[in-house]
Amino acid sequence: MEATKTTLKGGEWLIRESEPAHTFIPEHFNEEQMMIRDMCNQYLDTEVFPILDRIDDMEPGLMKSLVQRAGEQGLLATSFPEEYGGLGKDFITSTIVNEYLGAGHSFSVAISAHTGIGTLPILYFGNDEQKQKYIPKLISGEWTGAYGLTEPNSGSDALGAKTTARLSDDGKYYILNGQKCWITNGGFADVYTVFAKVDGDKFTGFIVERGFEGFTQGPEEHKMGIKGSSTVQLYFQDCKVPVENVLGDIGKGHKIAFNILNIGRLKLCAAALGGAKRAISTSVEYAKTREQFKTAIANFGAIKHKLAEMVIRTYACESALYRTAEWIDEKEKQALAEGKPFNDALLGAAEEFAIECALLKVHGSETLDFCVDEGVQIHGGNGFSAEYNISRAYRDSRINRIYEGTNEINRLLSVDMTLKRAMQGRLAMMGPAMKVGQELLAIPEFGDADETPFAAERKLIEGFKKAILLTAGAAAQKLMMKLEHEQEILMNIADMSIDTFVSESLLLRVMRLEQEGKATQLHRDIAQVYIYDAADRVAKAGKDALNAFAEGDEQRMMLMGIRRFTKAASFNSKEARRRIADALIAEQKYFL
Ligand SMILES: Cc1cc2nc3c(=O)[nH]c(=O)nc-3n(C[C@H](O)[C@H](O)[C@H](O)COP(=O)(O)OP(=O)(O)OC[C@H]3O[C@@H](n4cnc5c(N)ncnc54)[C@H](O)[C@@H]3O)c2cc1C
Repeated sequence: MEATKTTLKGGEWLIRESEPAHTFIPEHFNEEQMMIRDMCNQYLDTEVFPILDRIDDMEPGLMKSLVQRAGEQGLLATSFPEEYGGLGKDFITSTIVNEYLGAGHSFSVAISAHTGIGTLPILYFGNDEQKQKYIPKLISGEWTGAYGLTEPNSGSDALGAKTTARLSDDGKYYILNGQKCWITNGGFADVYTVFAKVDGDKFTGFIVERGFEGFTQGPEEHKMGIKGSSTVQLYFQDCKVPVENVLGDIGKGHKIAFNILNIGRLKLCAAALGGAKRAISTSVEYAKTREQFKTAIANFGAIKHKLAEMVIRTYACESALYRTAEWIDEKEKQALAEGKPFNDALLGAAEEFAIECALLKVHGSETLDFCVDEGVQIHGGNGFSAEYNISRAYRDSRINRIYEGTNEINRLLSVDMTLKRAMQGRLAMMGPAMKVGQELLAIPEFGDADETPFAAERKLIEGFKKAILLTAGAAAQKLMMKLEHEQEILMNIADMSIDTFVSESLLLRVMRLEQEGKATQLHRDIAQVYIYDAADRVAKAGKDALNAFAEGDEQRMMLMGIRRFTKAASFNSKEARRRIADALIAEQKYFL
């Protein structure tokens, strides 16, 4: 059945077809969105890039003043409700802000933490008084926000926190005792969302202000990258937090922590994308000017391959990001139209697409890492020099695979959520999975060749989905409860999902451009190369997973299925990459 824009649920892309005409593409940003994008770019170019060294040296007061200035220009307010001084823009617009302010190294980390984990918990879980008191100051940049979840012994296992809270004898305060670590903006923030266990077991959020009695901070951490981003430990020694600063319900802190993370993961992907585009521009600029063997290194095929691959992965990532952002937007609007309060509307929408948010977090952070790594390589020895910005980009990128849930945790979560939704009947995977099983037993149908544009790529992506259904279905059936302890298999399935979701998003984008008469050979090349390579990756991951648990005839049959579902026609990807690189070199910067 054909999926419509409004009926696609989280995870459903795996079992339903999407139409290009229902897919949001960045080429459809409206004028206002493009204006906001340009403002963000301009802010980085004029206010941030000229002083990156001073930022990394942690010049006292500098980061706070940059956040404040961004606030004065309205850059912190995009997605916040107008009643608190926000601009009330939609989710796509706020994603654009995250993307285009995302390339600003440590500044971007400060801004993302402030507008995301630093502000959203109060906006979405605070009561009216709390919102009135804190949100306008946070949106304007007058105050900065931070978020204290991680502790020395509880990182990925966030609910294992040891910080405690107990009600004071007079019932006016909660007394917090414990320690938080790795807190972004911690050194200069004014307001902190902090999690502690009331009476040692009820995980709860609290709003803590700088200056509360018993609240202190440690010195700045010395980090590998994002050196200008403030990261400190927080200490609570009989810290008195007024009872009116309990955030949400006692014992319901996990709802705050997990819900905020869904949005954070998508926004991290956006910021990584912004960084990747800048890294590409920096690298092509260098490759054009650096000469070796009497020619610009941009003329070498080895360098063209790198530049093209950076563009391909970045463009693919962008396709999946904005496809998801629009789903969240639509879902939120639908909930608002049904009369849901704004906080439930966005959180519900983000939860619906939590699987996609996890996939995007992984793909975005790994795309950026790939681009900065190849960027350093293109710069040769100079890439290793602190004088060149690409080395900063390389160091700053690495953190993205660690925070907002490590990439391992996000991979595991994406599969766990998919399988749970299938078991709950929320995602109707059983039928399609059984159909794949039947298809394996049947004689393959060869039918007439479909000559319509992109028919081969569409069929391949349909095959990727079948490969996932086959692998995940067989693993769940065979291993049952043991599957959760077979993380290697879950990682394989997650990797297949990432490649499939991103490949499909990319193809739908290019098909939509084609339908609108705007596609060029460049778009077609990007889609073809990405999907062609993805076929090998999906096949390898599927094979590895099946080999880990299947045996005998069943194993042989399923491996044959994986081969059949991921069989891509031969294609000269070298020439396609050359065309992509040549277009980039001609434009001298990322231009898509
Ligand atoms: C610069 C920086 C800024 C940060 N900012 C903040 C902030 O503002 N607020 C905040 O609260 N926190 C913040 N963090 C903390 C960050 O979210 C954690 O570092 C992250 O969640 C990982 O936790 P951990 O460091 O304890 O690693 P661990 O949880 O110890 O993980 C170590 C390794 O084991 C893997 N692993 C862990 N559990 C599993 C599992 N079940 N299965 C498979 N593999 C597993 C991980 O993927 C990782 O590879 C920040 C961290 C850094 C470095």
